[in-house]
Amino acid sequence: MAKYVYLFKEGNASMRELLGGKGANLAEMTNIGLPVPQGFTVTTEACTRYYEDGQNINDDIMKEINAALAETEVICGKKFGDLENPFLVSVRSGARASMPGMMDTILNLGLNDVAVKGLAKQTGNERFAYDSYRRFIQMFSDVVMEIKKSNFESALTKMKEAKGVQYDTGLTAADLKELVEIFKGIYKKEKGVEFPQDPKEQLLEAIKAVFRSWDNPRAIYYRRMNDIPSSWGTAVNVQAMVFGNMGEDSGTGVAFTRDPSTGEKKLYGEFLMNAQGEDVVAGIRTPQPISSLQNTMPDVYKQFVAIATTLEDHYRDMQDMEFTIEHAKLYMLQTRNGKRTAMAALKIAVDLVDEKMLTTDEAVLKVEPKQLDTLLHPNFDPKAIKAATPIAKGLPASPGAAAGKAYFSASAAANAGRKGIAAILVREETTPEDIEGMDLSKGILTARGGMTSHAAVVARGMGRAAVVGCGVLKINEEAKTFTVGGKTYHEGDDVSIDGSTGNVYGEAIPTVEASVTGDFARLMTWADAARTLKVRTNADNPRDTKQAVAFGAEGIGLCRTEHMFFEADRIAAVREMILSDTVEQREAALAKILPMQQGDFEAMYTALEGRPMTVRYLDPPLHEFLPAKSMTAEIAAIAKELGTTPEAIDEKIDALHEFNPMMGHRGCRLAVTYPEIAKMQTRAVIQAAIKVKKEKGYDIVPEIMIPLVCEVKELKFVKNIVVETIEEVFKEQNTELQYHIGTMIEIPRAALLADEIATEAEFFSFGTNDLTQMTFGFSRDDAGKFLESYYTNKVFESDPFAKLDQKGVGKLVKMAAKAGRETRPNIKLGICGEHGGDPATIEFCHNIGLTYVSCSPFRVPIARLAAAHAAINAKMK
Ligand code: ADP
Ligand code: MG
Ligand code: MG
Repeated sequence: MAKYVYLFKEGNASMRELLGGKGANLAEMTNIGLPVPQGFTVTTEACTRYYEDGQNINDDIMKEINAALAETEVICGKKFGDLENPFLVSVRSGARASMPGMMDTILNLGLNDVAVKGLAKQTGNERFAYDSYRRFIQMFSDVVMEIKKSNFESALTKMKEAKGVQYDTGLTAADLKELVEIFKGIYKKEKGVEFPQDPKEQLLEAIKAVFRSWDNPRAIYYRRMNDIPSSWGTAVNVQAMVFGNMGEDSGTGVAFTRDPSTGEKKLYGEFLMNAQGEDVVAGIRTPQPISSLQNTMPDVYKQFVAIATTLEDHYRDMQDMEFTIEHAKLYMLQTRNGKRTAMAALKIAVDLVDEKMLTTDEAVLKVEPKQLDTLLHPNFDPKAIKAATPIAKGLPASPGAAAGKAYFSASAAANAGRKGIAAILVREETTPEDIEGMDLSKGILTARGGMTSHAAVVARGMGRAAVVGCGVLKINEEAKTFTVGGKTYHEGDDVSIDGSTGNVYGEAIPTVEASVTGDFARLMTWADAARTLKVRTNADNPRDTKQAVAFGAEGIGLCRTEHMFFEADRIAAVREMILSDTVEQREAALAKILPMQQGDFEAMYTALEGRPMTVRYLDPPLHEFLPAKSMTAEIAAIAKELGTTPEAIDEKIDALHEFNPMMGHRGCRLAVTYPEIAKMQTRAVIQAAIKVKKEKGYDIVPEIMIPLVCEVKELKFVKNIVVETIEEVFKEQNTELQYHIGTMIEIPRAALLADEIATEAEFFSFGTNDLTQMTFGFSRDDAGKFLESYYTNKVFESDPFAKLDQKGVGKLVKMAAKAGRETRPNIKLGICGEHGGDPATIEFCHNIGLTYVSCSPFRVPIARLAAAHAAINAKMK
């Protein structure tokens, strides 16, 4: 029979899946002999069971919980609800992967009308006891019972007014006793029953609330963002309380063994004396830097430094620790591999190799591929930033430069972000509800909170630039303004923030490209040594090509030719071609395009310096090159330019209209109806290759890719046109060169018949955007409108257009790859959809033996690292 509850002393760090990260590490610290308040963990499997049993904790699990509780009471020498020696616990959620947005921790559980007297007696501090009790009632009511916090807060304010005191600390034990009664009254009014006096009932309700929180909207959103499956579940940790709020010889804090922003090797953190729990991160009082603990409590500090070193050596990674000091005695409440910025991740990984703690393969695994994103995006232009004057300075909470427009609510920022507007979320402070708005912003600016505030921690995790605790900003979230230095900024005004310095600017500061140097370059060398999957890029202009090559791209996997057709100097000729009525007219227009297209390819081949390039022939439906019929002014201008009438153009637009253009006249279907287009493109590619080869000496082997094929005869038809044209060019120029002709696999029928198609195709490139669209039957232009309901109803956990559906679409890819190889053993296989830059998809591509992935230039280093992870992980299995 499954065991659902483990005492801390029964577990260890390797049991993370079962005990969650927090529980496994509490167990591990217990085993190493560190001072940990004892307790037990209800497993993630119990959470899954809870949902299977219709949101109910079954009797077997209940029995185990009660047994573990009884044993913990013995270990701690205290009893639940006792008048002499009451046992109080915290109830803490803890999934396999650390997840902000889960349930808030409940402290001081076990307090009731009797235990509070026991606590008063035991501590000789009645005020402390009643203060703890009223906090517990509020926390339990809010977090577990979903009674609005404001009920309690206004009662507290009223009480302070009545007693004529300004701060909570001004209230006496008698006042707090009275407040407890008022709070219990609020509970009764809201719930219709008394506040639960039975600690076991309190505990059971709290455990259920943790399980429920696994499925709250914030948690679902976070999981979707981070590829965490809902089947994992969360564990619940029940732990004996220790008190950091028992006076000036008590306190609580958080610390990292290395600086999570820079990676510098030094203890980094904050603490508050006479404080409990979240006081440090809530930004209520300003915490002190950990180094000053050395003066306040030298012995505790020494012990803490020793523990920090032990933990880092033990886990061979930077640790993020939470601790509490009760009457000068140190307790460890949590340790985990610390979240860090991308910059810090690289430095720590490289340093740990130099310190002989990690092998290079292990170091490569320490850096999350997705995290590199922050380092690959622009920084402020050095000249512009020098010339700019900051309007304010806050704490540099998460590095990176961001310029955008100010928004004062998470939803406004999210809306702007969805529309492609660079948003800076400006808030008093952020809360877990803001997570989506933070994700869709370029940067986050808050007035309150410290380096470990919600905004700071979440921004670092997401790789968003953030400046927090910028107290000089007077933010009015209602009015959507902030004021600083006598000037008021409104929603939509330009702001820039520098998450590395904490500077805030009241203007949009231009940014510059990133580069791969230093620790980053060193780690990438190790990654390249480990990976076998090649990484190419999707690019169709020399600028992107150079950027991608600088980021380590080994060639172009997808050069889209239609983007070239939109350029101002050639769109007229393209339109002329579309408006042609005869083959002769069309050929005349194409003849105008040919030199320009050839020039495009020459520039691309030159930028690639001999690296391979797959050129995809014209793909989109032709109507995309014409304006909409409503744009009369533009149509009139085009008519004038081309010497025709607006009516003639309108007619053509009507003729090109399709009900479903994505499944209409596009891809190789264009080449079947208008072979002239394919001929022109072939001439452009081959003539460019011959020319650049001759001039620069690069060994160019053109790769010509026919899109949207569904049938081998269709491919053969277009291929014949291409080959004939190539032969013509060879004859004309009296030269030859090697070339390859292949196809995209992006229609399910092509995947099903890949063995036949491979008889004609020398390579396949999986176009997973279209393949996803056609396999699901979801239009990728419309799916956004309804997929949201699929996430909230848990039909889907992620967007199949962002993360490859390995189960369905992946099955087609795998099948087609296998069938293609059977026909043509040395067939080259690649992927060029949006998915090509997604780490999970890259791992899949590695495992099914593709030759390369192709992704946007800025994702190339991410793909290189993800390919290395895939190779190392496969090796270790
Ligand atoms: P989170 O996952 O949000 O960090 P935790 O479960 O770590 O939540 O709890 C938050 C804080 O509550 C801890 O950092 C600690 O200060 C306090 N806390 C939790 N459990 C206890 C305990 N048993 N005794 C004292 N303080 C506790
Ligand atoms: Mg914690
Ligand atoms: Mg396509």
